[in-house]
Amino acid sequence: MSTHIAIIGAGLSGLTLALALHAQNIPCTLYEARSAPLNIGGAIMLSPNALRILDTLGVFARIKPDGYAFDTLYFRSQEDTPLDTFEFGSEAKYGFPGFRVYRHVLIRELSAMVAEAGVEIQYQKKFTRVLEESESGVTWEFDDGATASASCLVGADGIHSRVRGYLYPDLQPTFTHTMAVTAAVPTAQLKVPSDGSYGLPVTILNRTHGAFVIAPQQADGSEVLIGRQKRAAQLDREGWDRLINDKEWCIDFLRDSAEDFPPIVRNAVSEISTDKINLWPFYIVPKLESWASASARVVILGDAAHAIPPSAGQGINQGFEDVYTFALILARLNVNDQGEGALRRVLRGWQAGRQERIDQVMVLNAQIDRRRGPKVPGQEDEESKPFELEWLYKVDFEEMVDGWLANA
Ligand SMILES: Cc1cc2nc3c(=O)[nH]c(=O)nc-3n(C[C@H](O)[C@H](O)[C@H](O)COP(=O)(O)OP(=O)(O)OC[C@H]3O[C@@H](n4cnc5c(N)ncnc54)[C@H](O)[C@@H]3O)c2cc1C
Repeated sequence: MSTHIAIIGAGLSGLTLALALHAQNIPCTLYEARSAPLNIGGAIMLSPNALRILDTLGVFARIKPDGYAFDTLYFRSQEDTPLDTFEFGSEAKYGFPGFRVYRHVLIRELSAMVAEAGVEIQYQKKFTRVLEESESGVTWEFDDGATASASCLVGADGIHSRVRGYLYPDLQPTFTHTMAVTAAVPTAQLKVPSDGSYGLPVTILNRTHGAFVIAPQQADGSEVLIGRQKRAAQLDREGWDRLINDKEWCIDFLRDSAEDFPPIVRNAVSEISTDKINLWPFYIVPKLESWASASARVVILGDAAHAIPPSAGQGINQGFEDVYTFALILARLNVNDQGEGALRRVLRGWQAGRQERIDQVMVLNAQIDRRRGPKVPGQEDEESKPFELEWLYKVDFEEMVDGWLANA
């Protein structure tokens, strides 16, 4: 197959896809609606499955100096007693730790690497609609009236994807009736021992007021994200924008009922500066039957295909798995082209394999939510066992892709 891939969206999925394709000698061009990639929501947590991919692409070495490495997430009661732990990484077991890094750092390094690879990014190019799709390619339009063509168009354009609108005109992301507000404060403000005896990152579970999260960031852990998650009524886009710009409302949200939490939480909310506040309404994309058009010339991935709840911290980590395995699949197809219908067939195998992992993450999300919610009598035993996470973190993606291809 002679291939030129057009990627709509230069967010984390799109930029990483460009690098993964370049590593396979597959030409591509990125088109981004904004004047710079979307930089939402402070720092993100990366787990070993994603770090393995970023390491292979040479990205991890470049972000490592700017992030905070850790292995375990701790859970404590409202009385501040230890309840549970969740492994987010382990160099010894999975080859990589858990890692928190500011999104703008990742975007900065990914953009620089894409430029070094000679891949073009066209900014202020907003995809609007597909004009024509055939067995050999696709033509589409931007909002400035310009058109372009490629052998394959990939929508990496996020949860509100316009490219997905071509495949599913009536689909809207679903609000989960939960939202979070986060801020960043100096770690010293927590007044916990600096010898590591109080395990961080920590989530304090309050039976009435829900969860309060405290997670170190910056390479030396000198800053922590503080965050609160609660049930919420749905708003429209303007409504959410109004809330996120109402910094006093966000601070009140973080401080609400702090007296019912242990001292670490009261200390965490004692001084909150308005410059690093974020608000995150949790929307999801329901499970889709297909991530590609009938001729497989239009494909979606990342949040566009499967925005998921954040319980296991796998949102963007699964996006990285999509893009890396997508590039491997295309490379195998180039080497081993089997004529008409081959692209359709291998992409079906790719989606089935990726969906299986997303489904497993959804099961894990539900297990985690159950553990953090009120206990059901009789379930205590099952729910205090450590999670088995090797399937998630210790993956040989090359072998996995070969398995999908063998069965396609
Ligand atoms: C506040 C917040 C905190 C989060 N924290 C975490 C976390 O800790 N861990 C985690 O795993 N996930 C986290 N997530 C989820 C994570 O951000 C997403 O999973 C991730 O951003 C998805 O990446 P993406 O590249 O698929 O989409 P996006 O990051 O949404 O990028 C899409 C890109 O496409 C561009 N675009 C959109 N429409 C068009 C168009 N029509 N034409 C051209 N370009 C277009 C956008 O401008 C953007 O640059 C968080 C989300 C939020 C909102």
